[in-house]
Amino acid sequence: GKGLAVFTSGGDSQGMNAAVRAVVRMGIYLGCKVFFIKEGYQGMVDGGQHIVEATWSSVSSIIHKGGTVIGSARCMEFRERAGRLKAAKNLVARGITNMVVIGGDGSLTGANLFRTEWSSLLEELVRTGQITKDQQTKYAHLHIAGMVGSIDNDFCGTDMTIGTDSALHRIIEAIDAIVSTAYSHQRTFIMEVMGRHCGYLAIIAGLSSEADFIFIPEDPADPTWPQKICQKLSQERSTGQRLNIIIVAEGAIDRDGEPITAEKVRQVVVENLQQDTRITVLGHVQRGGNPSAFDRVLGCRMGAEAVMALMEATPETESCVVSLDGNQAVRLPLMECVLKTKAVTKAMGDKDWENAVQLRGKS
Ligand code: ADP
Repeated sequence: GKGLAVFTSGGDSQGMNAAVRAVVRMGIYLGCKVFFIKEGYQGMVDGGQHIVEATWSSVSSIIHKGGTVIGSARCMEFRERAGRLKAAKNLVARGITNMVVIGGDGSLTGANLFRTEWSSLLEELVRTGQITKDQQTKYAHLHIAGMVGSIDNDFCGTDMTIGTDSALHRIIEAIDAIVSTAYSHQRTFIMEVMGRHCGYLAIIAGLSSEADFIFIPEDPADPTWPQKICQKLSQERSTGQRLNIIIVAEGAIDRDGEPITAEKVRQVVVENLQQDTRITVLGHVQRGGNPSAFDRVLGCRMGAEAVMALMEATPETESCVVSLDGNQAVRLPLMECVLKTKAVTKAMGDKDWENAVQLRGKS
């Protein structure tokens, strides 16, 4: 059977395990020899015990676990050709020519670069006597399929990234818990949620918790935000609302590009309204806990689709990223989506927010 490897790379997210499980089982079902690569690209470069054959039962009892059981890492070596050369040798030695990468845009960029370089890497391995000419011929083409694990929902092309829904559950649980205590004391709560370039978590959490105010990176607050927020909060109190919730995305900014932090917002509320105001920074809690049913099923569908894409791939086939389009797992050109995602980040950096939102489009 064909050699197929799966690995998780970059930041972890809930639902990655479901995706890994689906890749392993779909691969085995279709007659592949499936491998885990542990610790992302670092495991690929190091080889040895980091690349192990997977069995049907080795992915039992992981679907409900958060994070990624096969480990994830950042790897400087893979950014250099020398590191990728080692990785190629390790893959060829095991007959792996198909890879499913689960990560963010960095990880997908690395995978695509690796595929582009593959034949020249094999050439060098033959030249330096590390693999045989036969191996070079037999494993001449590397196929890759990607999927995005990220709680931020910050990738262009997919309606949802793996982990976003679970992170929202964590945020909502936290807000609900806080609401019950805030209600007793007439407090204002400021919640900082993740999202450096993407306000998705903040917006959806805000909508589902009746937040009074939301700060996101894509819609910088105008200079009158302190007046506006105070007006809104005091209006709510005067109509009998006992608590207020303000949600601040990590990357929230004003029109000068200056960060709007939870602390800044707190000062404005305290100085102007003298309300009892508390900050909660959710941090890694958002990545934690068990994946939601949605993320489990999303990981399963995407994993299965990724393997099918690889099995149908020819040397000419463009690498794909598996995305969610409505209710369907679909294949989209990997680099096109990565470049669009990077363009969004750049537009945000350039303070061209309108363009960023336009570029991000559906997602
Ligand atoms: P994410 O995948 O979540 O965006 P990173 O950008 O940190 O996270 O990328 C994860 C890993 O992918 C890096 O540690 C590195 O090993 C690899 N990688 C990222 N970008 C590249 C690149 N341009 N070339 C080669 N490898 C890369």
